[in-house]
Amino acid sequence: MDESCIFCLIASGQDKEAEVIKQDLVCFRDICPAAPHHYLVIPRKHIQSCFSLNRRHVNLVERMAQMGKAVLQEQGITDMTDIMLGFHQPPFISVSHLHLHVLAPASQITDFDYKFIPNTPSFVEEHSLRRRIQNFDPDPGANQSHLKLLFQKILPS
Ligand SMILES: [Zn+2]
Ligand SMILES: [Zn+2]
Repeated sequence: MDESCIFCLIASGQDKEAEVIKQDLVCFRDICPAAPHHYLVIPRKHIQSCFSLNRRHVNLVERMAQMGKAVLQEQGITDMTDIMLGFHQPPFISVSHLHLHVLAPASQITDFDYKFIPNTPSFVEEHSLRRRIQNFDPDPGANQSHLKLLFQKILPS
């Protein structure tokens, strides 16, 4: 846990204002909703961003997406084709704790300037990210900046 990270505090239940819906992953409402339904799904464990992920995290990302979809359905969303699930990519992240944005209906996203346009430098859809990391197997000894370089090389142009 990173004591200075607001999402770590929410995940540990120390921010009573945020509604903690599930156990292993945590889901809560985005304080700045860009659609009628806008939630964030985070792992309790502090992971910085989608640039920290590799093929060992495919299952985690999948479970985050499943939880996001389950929460949408619990909240009465029936058209699961009109939803948007994705991650902001550094440096376009507000909090440096991995979080999946879950939005519905996607057709009613209000803040559609740059933040939630899929597969731009700022935002990657969940399924695209999974495809990207599934073959990414970094050398565990490699340092972070080296990893980032490597990662950028395999980003789609
Ligand atoms: Zn954190
Ligand atoms: Zn974000």
